Amino acid sequence: MAEHLSPLCAKCPSVVCMPQIKTDEKPSLDKAPNFCPMKLMPEVVDKAISEYDKPEVREFARLASLQEFECYEQLPDGRRTKNPRILELIQFAQKCGYKKLGLAFCGGLAKEARMLTEILENKGFEVVSVRCKVGATSKERIGIKPEEKIGGPEKWESMCNPITQAEVLNAENVDLAIMLGLCIGHDTLFIKYCRVPMTVIAVKDRVTGHNPLAALYLSDSYYARLKTKVG
Ligand code: SF4
Repeated sequence: MAEHLSPLCAKCPSVVCMPQIKTDEKPSLDKAPNFCPMKLMPEVVDKAISEYDKPEVREFARLASLQEFECYEQLPDGRRTKNPRILELIQFAQKCGYKKLGLAFCGGLAKEARMLTEILENKGFEVVSVRCKVGATSKERIGIKPEEKIGGPEKWESMCNPITQAEVLNAENVDLAIMLGLCIGHDTLFIKYCRVPMTVIAVKDRVTGHNPLAALYLSDSYYARLKTKVG
């Protein structure tokens, strides 16, 4: 039986999807690995690319690409980056003509939510926001046992409620929802239920100042335990 191959871009040695050729030349798949999705599932790739033929999708993608372009500047000594993500968020929302932004934030980042709201308001946006604990629903509602509560078995503990966060922003019909620091899993539910355009300004990482890649960069040293093999 033929071996089943799955896309493995993260292990690609050739990256022929980023060819060093001129605009009028055609990319070649000759050197693409067998696990390349362009080889494995060309019909999926073609169908996905045809989505950009929809005018609204094409325009959104064009603005995103323009935003990407504007994050670099060409100087005599080479190209360099210039915009932090918060500035990118502002610029992209302006490009898209968005007026009303919705912030879905974690209670652990309430201070950051206030700061970001003020910055966005100063740039002329209306900002609505909703905290993860909205709904004031106890964790017992989803089957959490007393001994599984962070603050101890005796205390009330509100569950994080990303579905309600999403539905509140859906009901407000915000132009763009922004996730700020939701936990793993809670963010998954938020994304699943959010029906307005959405982006992420920060993800939760309690020990690295919300910079999960810090642990990755230290995985050859202080976080070497990340590389321990199972089994
Ligand atoms: S799309 Fe193909 S060529 Fe590009 S990184 Fe993935 S496997 Fe490599």
